[in-house]
Amino acid sequence: MLHDATVVDHPLVRHKLTLMRAKDTRTAEFRLLMREIALLLGYEVLRDLPLTTQTIQTPLAPMESPKLEGKKLVLVSILRAGTGLLDGLLDLVPVARVGHIGLYRDPDTLEAVEYYFKVPGNLEDRLVVVVDPMLATGNSAVAAVARIKEAGGKNIKFLCLLASPEGVKTFRDAHPNVPVFTAAIDDHLNDHGYIIPGLGDAGDRLYGTK
Ligand code: URA
Repeated sequence: MLHDATVVDHPLVRHKLTLMRAKDTRTAEFRLLMREIALLLGYEVLRDLPLTTQTIQTPLAPMESPKLEGKKLVLVSILRAGTGLLDGLLDLVPVARVGHIGLYRDPDTLEAVEYYFKVPGNLEDRLVVVVDPMLATGNSAVAAVARIKEAGGKNIKFLCLLASPEGVKTFRDAHPNVPVFTAAIDDHLNDHGYIIPGLGDAGDRLYGTK
């Protein structure tokens, strides 16, 4: 099956993901790994950030040196598990603006229900990276990106840690112009909307709520 997502398969990412998947990995380590892996994934997601140049003076000579161009980028976390990825991305780009979207999955329909939405202004002029560790059914990601578009977002990317083939398809069907980045695409979704083999419930594992 052909997947329409960029899989970041750097050995460090693959190694850390194995540690995260293992059920005996405890909350504190899981959270730290999520932060580290987010930084590595972010490196790929932000690979094409536009640059300009600036004249600077090194201790030895003047030079034209590259620097990021344009308005500060926006990271949008889909609550609550998205916050695990957000922390690592903020380590990478501390000046990024941050938005939050609160969505929960209706346990019966698995549809996304919104309860919170707060994003920075001028979305139309900024790169917006929407983050959620698990692209499972794809419903939350589809709804979140639709809201970002409603709020003016035009240049949007979606970053997750793990995806299901079904989630990638649903997402790409709904938002063909939004590239997806992930560390891995797993085998399938089970009847409860969990990714198999996956890593369990990312929010519970991040925050020790089970
Ligand atoms: N959300 C999770 O946290 N894990 C899954 O496997 C699917 C959705």
